[in-house]
Amino acid sequence: MIRIDFCGAVGEVTGSGYLVQTDAATVLVDFGAFQGGPGARERSRELGPVRPDRLDAVVLSHAHIDHSGRLPLLMAAGYAGQLHATPATLDLAALLLADQGRILEGDLVRENRRRQRAGQPRLEPPFTLADVERVKASGRPLAYGQRRQIAPGISLRLGEAGHILGSASVELCIADGGTSRVLVFSGDIGPCGAPILRDPQRPALADLVVMESTYGDRERPSAASTVQRLREILHEAVRNRARVVIPAFAVGRTQLLLFHMAAAIREAGLPSIPVYLDSPMATAATLVYMHHQELYDAELGELVHSGQLRHDLQMLKVAESVAESRALNEHEGPCVIISAAGMCEAGRVVHHLRHTLWRENAHVILSGYMAPGTLGRALADGAGMVEIFGEEIAVRATVHHLSGFSAHAGQAELLDWLSEVAPQAPRIVLTHGDDPARHALCERIRERYGLPAECPQPGETLLLG
Ligand SMILES: [Zn+2]
Ligand SMILES: [Zn+2]
Repeated sequence: MIRIDFCGAVGEVTGSGYLVQTDAATVLVDFGAFQGGPGARERSRELGPVRPDRLDAVVLSHAHIDHSGRLPLLMAAGYAGQLHATPATLDLAALLLADQGRILEGDLVRENRRRQRAGQPRLEPPFTLADVERVKASGRPLAYGQRRQIAPGISLRLGEAGHILGSASVELCIADGGTSRVLVFSGDIGPCGAPILRDPQRPALADLVVMESTYGDRERPSAASTVQRLREILHEAVRNRARVVIPAFAVGRTQLLLFHMAAAIREAGLPSIPVYLDSPMATAATLVYMHHQELYDAELGELVHSGQLRHDLQMLKVAESVAESRALNEHEGPCVIISAAGMCEAGRVVHHLRHTLWRENAHVILSGYMAPGTLGRALADGAGMVEIFGEEIAVRATVHHLSGFSAHAGQAELLDWLSEVAPQAPRIVLTHGDDPARHALCERIRERYGLPAECPQPGETLLLG
C-alpha cells in the first residue's frame, strides 16, 4: 500500500508538497511556501504531516519558492538526509532560498522592534540562514533521464518540465509488495515552443499522475502577439527617446525578456538600445542560466554555437551597486530597465517606478500576473495616482500589461501532456490550481480521455493499493 498526503497546493497554487509513504520508506516531493492569501506566513511555518526524522529522502521539482520555500524549515526541524534535484534547480534554489531567508529576517527584525515598543514578547525565526546553507549542503544533483535509488524500494528519475531552468517532472518507481508502481508528479509544466528551454517531456508510463492545473480553465494569451506588442513598444520608445521600465521576476521571466529583446534587435530591426539589468538576484539567476547551456533548446543552442548569443549579450549592462542603480534615474535618452520584483511590491524597481511613472514620455511594461494589493496590480488596473514610500505619484507614463509570457502551459497543452500515458488509464490527481481551474481541467480530461480525475481537499490522504 502506498500512501500520499498533500502538504499544500490543493485547491490553490502555492505550498506544493507530497508525502509518499510505503511500508519501507518515506519520501517528500517538494516542500513549498504558501504565498498570498490569508495566513500564508503562518502556514509556511507548519510541517503538516511531515516528520523530518522519519524522512528517507526529499526531491525538488524546481526552484520556485512555492515548491522549495519550506525546505529550510525541514532542516531546522532536524532533517539530515539528501535533497535530489537537477543541478540547475539546486543552483537556482540556493539563490531563491537565500533571498527568501534575507527577506524573512528583515521582516522579523521590524516586527520584533514593533513588538518591543508594544511590550510584547519577541518572535523567534522559524529557521535561519544557516538552515538555508544546510539545504544547499544536502543537494545531490541528478541529471534528466538518469535513475537513482533514493530510499528503500524507491527510485527516482527526472524529466524536463520546460517551466524554468532545471524544472522537472518527478517519476518515482516504487516496489510495493510483489509489484512495482510508477508515480509521476508533473511539477509545474511549461508551455511548448517557448524560447530558451526545451519543451516539457510527456510521461509515458504511470499508475498515478499528480498534475498541476494552474491554467486548467483557460488558454494562455498567445506568445507571438505578446512578443509583437513588446517589439512595438520598444520601437516607439526608441522613436520618442523614451524610457521603458519592466518589473520582472528574477528567475525565468527576466531571461525570457532578455531573449526577446535580443531577438527584436536581431530580427525586427530595433535600433540598439541600452538594456539595464538592475537586480542582483536577476543578475545572479542570469549567470546560472548562462552556466547551464546544456539545457538550452535547439534554437538557443544554435545561437551559442554561432557566437550570436555572445554578441547579443553586449547590449546588456548590469547595474550592480545601489549607486549604479540610482544613477539610472538621471539617464537621458531611450533605455530599458529590467528590475525586480515582478509585482512591484519591493526591490529596486519601486525606486525606478517612483522616478518614471510621473513622466509622460515613458513606458512601464507589466509582464505577468499581478496579485491583488500589489503596486503592480494598481498599475494594471489603471490607477491615476499611486503611493510609493508614502509619496503620492501621478501615473502619466503609459502602462502596458503583457500577459503572454507565462511559464505555465495553457489548458490544451496540459491535456496534451497526458496524451502518451492516458491509454494506460492511470489514476489522475489534480493539484496546484484554484478550484475553478482544476474542476474545468477535470471535466476536459473526462471528455478527451474518458478518465476520471480526482481533486483532493486539504488534509485528504490518497491510498494506492
Ligand atoms: Zn513554478
Ligand atoms: Zn508552482
